[in-house]
Amino acid sequence: MPELPEVETVKRTLNALVTGKTIERVQVLLPRIIQKPDDIHLFEALLQGQTIQTIERRGKFLRFVLDDYVMVSHLRMEGRYGVYQGDDPLELHSHVLFRFTDGTELRYKDVRQFGTMHLFPKGEELTQPPLSKLGIEPLDEAFTLEAFKSLIAKRSTKIKPLLLNQAYIVGIGNIYVDESLFLAGIHPEREASTLSGKELAALHEAIIRTLRESVEVGGSSVKSYVNGQGEIGMFQHQLNIYGRESQPCKTCGSEIYKTVVGGRGTHICPSCQPLKPKRVRKKSEN
Ligand SMILES: [Zn+2]
Repeated sequence: MPELPEVETVKRTLNALVTGKTIERVQVLLPRIIQKPDDIHLFEALLQGQTIQTIERRGKFLRFVLDDYVMVSHLRMEGRYGVYQGDDPLELHSHVLFRFTDGTELRYKDVRQFGTMHLFPKGEELTQPPLSKLGIEPLDEAFTLEAFKSLIAKRSTKIKPLLLNQAYIVGIGNIYVDESLFLAGIHPEREASTLSGKELAALHEAIIRTLRESVEVGGSSVKSYVNGQGEIGMFQHQLNIYGRESQPCKTCGSEIYKTVVGGRGTHICPSCQPLKPKRVRKKSEN
């Protein structure tokens, strides 16, 4: 599933490709993709004549900002956009077609058919699900160490599922959680409330660093992810732990193992990410 860096990359490429274009007509070929409004013909009619002003990202969602509406799109497992000439033959799994007045067409393809689109009058999208339930953006200035601590520090939940919860912090999925916890040297099953101030600071820094570095190279191409221009991201070559089961840790050489934490496949270095927190030295021992 695309996470923050991949969706950010799709956003950037789509902005370059379709911003300023006016929709001539919309064809929905797979009604289940459209979650709102209930009537797909209304979805098609409302978008007619609308110009794409910009495309933004909130968590793992894309926000297509139009003249009067905002279309909120989630790619889920394998959704992707591509821009074609209107008369290009339709490829398999093309589910929603946005024909522009200049003859080009934005096509939404989704082999797994799990992707969603919601259409709202402008402004309402932020006060209603799915966007209204989202937590803090980890690449925003508001994501300070203090903000991170207030979200995480006192919770008696395992740290990995907590980081995956989009109501706390958005955009981090399985890949970037494993990478961030590895960088910070924290075992994914550690209870959040047991993390020291130093560990929280390391984790906060690791999350920002991992996401930023991935955005810089266009995200990770894991499974079939590609950006809006059909290009694959390159961050998978920089992954330290995700997908490296049974391989030696790049830091210490120990064998990385894979287990399940909170229902998700999880990669751990047994030496760099000990389950037992290191003994905290009391002041009297200094
Ligand atoms: Zn290691």
